[in-house]
Amino acid sequence: MRKPLVIGNWKMNGSQRSVGQLLDGIAGVANLDIEVAVCPPFVYLAEVAARISGSGIRLAAQTLSEHESGAYTGEVAGSMLADVGCQYVLVGHSERRRLFGETDVRVARQFERARGAGITPVLCVGEDAAERNAGATWQVLHRQLEAIADVAGWEALGKSVIAYEPVWAIGTGATASPAQVQAVQVRVRNLLGSGGGATRLLYGGSVSEANAAELFAQPDVDGVLVGGASLQAEEFMAICRLAVGGSWKPW
Ligand code: PEP
Repeated sequence: MRKPLVIGNWKMNGSQRSVGQLLDGIAGVANLDIEVAVCPPFVYLAEVAARISGSGIRLAAQTLSEHESGAYTGEVAGSMLADVGCQYVLVGHSERRRLFGETDVRVARQFERARGAGITPVLCVGEDAAERNAGATWQVLHRQLEAIADVAGWEALGKSVIAYEPVWAIGTGATASPAQVQAVQVRVRNLLGSGGGATRLLYGGSVSEANAAELFAQPDVDGVLVGGASLQAEEFMAICRLAVGGSWKPW
């Protein structure tokens, strides 16, 4: 069975104070029979790790360096993330690809660094609006997935978490329809081959309390990656509760 996974990506938001308040507000997710992870900004990772210790909430990072260690000012290594207790790390988030020039090749190196540090990569893939309108959605996703498989292998890809995040739906309020998401997830799972049955496939892009239930109802949506709504404790809690309703998916 694939256990539902809900990840809150806090992006570059918050303060020591607000992070504490947010964690207090979502403490109840620990009682739900799903997996929940939060991705605080780097500077709050250690503090969040201490606060969630023993709660069942997992720690995740928003990105990592493609390098192992050394003279890379400003970068954070996978081993450091593991050292502070991260179990997951996002790789290839569209904001990193678009705003910080992360190419498929670089994302593949980051993916490998995460695995090397014993952290499960959450690979983000997705097309932008022009690519969807041009009918190139699958072409883009296939390229992004193959770039990882070329370096890490399909088996390793299948052991990661894959988040389908159409760029046009991130932070815009425009969610992909459940049918659009399901159609993509089936193709991703088929591409992964026999190992793909156990892979958790998430959806991300303006997920909210209002649309989460119909997303979780899709047979190949095993969880969600939540940006904006993860900053509101009540709304994030509501999304997590709906994930329980989506139930564990058999394979
Ligand atoms: C994200 O940051 O991955 C995301 C999906 O953001 P939002 O939920 O705000 O669209």
